[in-house]
Amino acid sequence: MGWNLAEVYPYDLILLDVMLPKLDGISFCQKLRTNQSSLLNPNRETPVILMTALDAVTNKVIGLDAGADDYLAKPFDMNELLARIRALLRRNQKTLSPLLSWGDLSLNPNSCEVIYQEKPIYLAAKEYEILELFLRYPEQIFSTSRLLDRLWTSEEFPSEGAVRAHIKGLRQKLKKAGVADILETIYKQGYRLKDQEVVNEKYQEDINQLEYNSINETSELKAVWEKYRQSYSDRLTILQQAIDAIKNGTFTPTQQQEAEREAHTLIGSLGCFGLETASEISRQIKQLIQQNQALKPPEITELEQLLTQLKEEIEGYGCENQINQIEYLPSIPNISSLSLSLLIVDDDLPLAQQMAIEATNWGFRAKIAVNLQAAEEFLSDHHFDVILLDINFPDSIKNGLDFLAIVHNHYPKIPVVMLTAENSFIQRVEAARLGSQCFLQKPISPAEVLATITQIIQPVNQSVAKLLIVDDDPGLLNLLTTLLEPSNYHLTLLNQPEKFWETLEQTAPDLLILDVEFSVIQKSEKDTINYWSGFDLCQVVRSDSRWNRLPILFLSSHNDLETIQRGFTVGADDFLTKPIVPTELITRVRTRLEQRKLWKLTEIDALTGLSLRRKALQDLTRLLQLAQRQQQPFSLAVLDLDHFKSVNDQYGHEMGDQVLNYFGKILNQSFRQEDVVGRWGGEEFIVGMYGTDKEDGMRKLVQVLQQFSQYSFTSLDGTRFKVTFSGGIVQTPDHGQDLQTLYQKADIALYQAKAEGRNRICSANLNK
Ligand code: GH3
Ligand code: MG
Ligand code: MG
Ligand code: MG
Repeated sequence: MGWNLAEVYPYDLILLDVMLPKLDGISFCQKLRTNQSSLLNPNRETPVILMTALDAVTNKVIGLDAGADDYLAKPFDMNELLARIRALLRRNQKTLSPLLSWGDLSLNPNSCEVIYQEKPIYLAAKEYEILELFLRYPEQIFSTSRLLDRLWTSEEFPSEGAVRAHIKGLRQKLKKAGVADILETIYKQGYRLKDQEVVNEKYQEDINQLEYNSINETSELKAVWEKYRQSYSDRLTILQQAIDAIKNGTFTPTQQQEAEREAHTLIGSLGCFGLETASEISRQIKQLIQQNQALKPPEITELEQLLTQLKEEIEGYGCENQINQIEYLPSIPNISSLSLSLLIVDDDLPLAQQMAIEATNWGFRAKIAVNLQAAEEFLSDHHFDVILLDINFPDSIKNGLDFLAIVHNHYPKIPVVMLTAENSFIQRVEAARLGSQCFLQKPISPAEVLATITQIIQPVNQSVAKLLIVDDDPGLLNLLTTLLEPSNYHLTLLNQPEKFWETLEQTAPDLLILDVEFSVIQKSEKDTINYWSGFDLCQVVRSDSRWNRLPILFLSSHNDLETIQRGFTVGADDFLTKPIVPTELITRVRTRLEQRKLWKLTEIDALTGLSLRRKALQDLTRLLQLAQRQQQPFSLAVLDLDHFKSVNDQYGHEMGDQVLNYFGKILNQSFRQEDVVGRWGGEEFIVGMYGTDKEDGMRKLVQVLQQFSQYSFTSLDGTRFKVTFSGGIVQTPDHGQDLQTLYQKADIALYQAKAEGRNRICSANLNK
């Protein structure tokens, strides 16, 4: 329950017990800190205090490593607890970057929000950056070319016209929000922030708090950097002396060691300060110095040039250079180490920027390449966890598929999501051949793209695939272990078929390998002999809705057609005959696992995270049959958002998507694992509840309706609004025996709910 709450509501602090049933505090914490799948994980950064009677040091360490901020051993003094809470809340404020403001206009670099008189102003990415720059450097004059250098990368092929257009856009948006023009145009020089009571740093920094604050934080970085800049310059002198000595032929081994050490220190330290180029130059210098004996005159010249460059980098580096780097970094510093990096390759810059902004909301660090060459360069210099790739680049003879081929050949581990405006089957095939895991069609909302990307990389992040192997021959189990171990799967070996079900439930495998025949071991006289075959196990698995997609492979010494056919009839995905051919086994296992990954994707609606219609239908059918067999009640509800068209019309389709996304979230967490919740289409949803009659189902739905309708959404222009839904509910057998009849009756009830004024659930009439 705590987890459910934490997934939905933002808290300022979480006080967490360690020993808890179902989900212990440590796992809770880990989940909280790493949960990237969740669109709304409002507490990723929330401070957590663990409380427990386990006061051993290791436990503290585990707790803190799991992402807790503090640890309190029970029994504790209430005053101490309160003091720690205060301290954490204080500290959390301190980690904020200073709020930049100009009169009533304020810009929060942490949340990237711009607020004027308590109302948000929505700016495009570049407009935001321009505003931030001006607010940060109130006295400075920025010419268009200076702005270009600061805020645009060369790959963006910007023009001064673009800069002026953005400034104009910014001015218009501010004006529309009622802000007086904040920029003055200085003839022939550029723009400057108008003089007003400039309150630059609202949060006065406490030097003692420095250690808590993230090193990403600009102004502190600046302070520290300024303090050490000189010492780094001094290090350069040592390198200069070394180069002189090399030139004069007086370079001693001691000198060489010293120079190497200096260069080495520079690589690390400069990198930490964000001077990546300088760090790279230092690396090159170190390499050259290492091979001093062999240095030829051109190399010595190169060394000198590198040193000059390094000097320039260090001397020219002030805090302002950081602006380029914070582009699209997640606004919250401490997740940056956790967050994954996304490379967006698309010539449509505005779209790419939208994606990048959305990506940061999902906890990614995003980098944009607007052409394939830039993409290639990025790829060789940086690590990326996933790539989003457009296919068409009109300005280039190459297209996205060429780049995909490069990734496929040189970085086969990086998943690539294709994005294209064309619906070409040939391209799809080619992309699939080149290993692309997913093909998305424009137009598509950034949220949808990110949902898909998140789903794709999750299996990669997740622990290794889990295999359950059931065979009564320990020797064979051993052999399989040997064969499969190099592939790094997690293997569970079982030679007692009677333990099958509990093992399956416990291990929740991704793939099942079954023997066909098990020899029966009778333990004692009294034991009744239960004879199971692999076919039985397979059928049992298939008849449970949770496992119906689990890939099952049979492994048998029977190779007659009848047995093999029977295997497929009971639901096997593959049938392998003994003796095992190792490569074949490995390939087939891998293929099944890959397919399973994709299956999982195709079953889930990216926007809402709910089952898609087909999957929902399957699960509903299964549940209904189960209910009938077990004479359990089963209720079915159809839900539809109210006046959703006008949500789209008034606040935009993107906003509509956000509503759908949130609705999906609420539905997902409101129902039990065994219930079926699906997106039936558009803004219509279906819920099947096993073992629940329509009264209980109704109660549940009313709760959900209350929760959902109380939530207030904020539209792009800052308007707050709420959304309701209507629903119709039926139950079996009262309203029918088959899904179609039930659905129709539920739909009629839904219609009635709409007619009665919406925002309600209606139960179907028995005699209709
Ligand atoms: P009612 O209360 O009678 O259900 O009114 P309504 O406006 O909700 O119903 P209607 O069926 O007229 O409109 C449904 C709207 O839902 C129209 C469609 O554009 C929108 N919609 C369907 N799927 C999506 C989606 O994925 N995203 C967004 N943003 N809108 C969607
Ligand atoms: Mg407890
Ligand atoms: Mg509707
Ligand atoms: Mg509808």
